[in-house]
Amino acid sequence: MQISVLGATGSIGQSTLDLVRQHPEQFAVRGLTAHRDVEGLLSLIRIHRPALVAMGDVQAAQALRMACREAGLQQTEVLEGEAGLQAVASDPQTERVVAGIVGVAGLSSVWAAVTAGKTILLANKEALVCAGALLVEQARRCGATILPIDSEHNAMFQCLGADYRCFERPAGVQGLVLTASGGPFRTWAAADIEKADVAAAIAHPNWVMGRKISVDSASLANKGLEFIEAHWLFAMPADQIQVVVHPQSLIHSMVAFDDGSTLAQLGSPDMRTPIAHALAWPTRITAGVQALRWDQISRLDFEQPDLVKFPALAMAQSALASGPAATTIFNAANEQAVASFLEGDMAFGMIPRAISESLSGLSHRFSPPSSLEDVFEIDRQARAYCGQWLREALAR
Ligand code: NAD
Ligand code: MG
Repeated sequence: MQISVLGATGSIGQSTLDLVRQHPEQFAVRGLTAHRDVEGLLSLIRIHRPALVAMGDVQAAQALRMACREAGLQQTEVLEGEAGLQAVASDPQTERVVAGIVGVAGLSSVWAAVTAGKTILLANKEALVCAGALLVEQARRCGATILPIDSEHNAMFQCLGADYRCFERPAGVQGLVLTASGGPFRTWAAADIEKADVAAAIAHPNWVMGRKISVDSASLANKGLEFIEAHWLFAMPADQIQVVVHPQSLIHSMVAFDDGSTLAQLGSPDMRTPIAHALAWPTRITAGVQALRWDQISRLDFEQPDLVKFPALAMAQSALASGPAATTIFNAANEQAVASFLEGDMAFGMIPRAISESLSGLSHRFSPPSSLEDVFEIDRQARAYCGQWLREALAR
């Protein structure tokens, strides 16, 4: 099977390519993309020999083209910019597309893959958060299949059974139970969370991931994004999705059925398991991950999320209730604030404050987006608003 990996140099990309290397008889790499990491993509080209690659950054693409020529790798065509990412996403010979770009930056390539009717392994939750209704409609129109690889949503997808397809309301389901590790600050006092620095925020207790999603996990904004993601993927009303903190991260999520049954999917916290499930779906392959050892596990704990210490989760939930413009603003403000935080410009507590200010300052200005252009316009304005608010707040 020919696969293309969008965001190949990132954490999701690496886990995917590890699986491809484990199963050379089953998978071949057709296309890869990255943002501007020339060396990183060049070394992946050496290993996987893709027919086409794309770099979002035009200068990086030029440098990569030169490097490929020098290394005798001319059989790989190097595309550039948004158009290049979209060309890889919609390439006719690609059978499965792994959407592993971080942030709204991944939306246009996910859209291109959906429009081409691809089978898409979706990690890029921000695409659904920003453009959920539009993507669902486009996927229906173009015959695209979404296989969730965000671990929680992959868990629910597995629990829903072999015949279930995303975007349909599942029959006989009472509700979804979205589990959360609680992140590195779960047991911290509110005053310490407020002042936390980058090193503390990206030190996730159970998962190794990219920097942005690690910060989102610390603020529980990630769980907020996943709440919205679950709403769109499984056509489930918000009041039938429950968030439960489960610090061991062994249960990746659950589905409660009308007859009183609850099914859970369990495994080690290793992204290769959900990615392997979706790569081989509807069959199973090895992932290099051991099944859980029940002689070494003595307990599974659960608690309610603390929405006072972690207000970003509640903000995402109320943004979903307000409508699609608000969820786009939530995501944009979060991306902007997390980028400032990662640059070391501010304390952790500024992130939820910046999101809240952006939502209250902007939500009334927009009606629900009716096109991708509308989504990008709301995103642009929300980033500008949030950036300005942060500059003023930090100057005080
Ligand atoms: P990462 O930062 O490790 O990798 C991001 C990838 O996106 C890189 O290849 C980078 O080159 C590319 N990229 C970034 N900005 C880009 C731009 N403007 N244009 C084109 N490409 C760009 O991130 P990650 O942790 O792999 O996360 C990727 C996505 O998967 C996110 O949406 C995240 O929420 C989701 N996800 C990740 C994990 C995980 O374990 N890492 C788990 C579940 C979901
Ligand atoms: Mg997740």
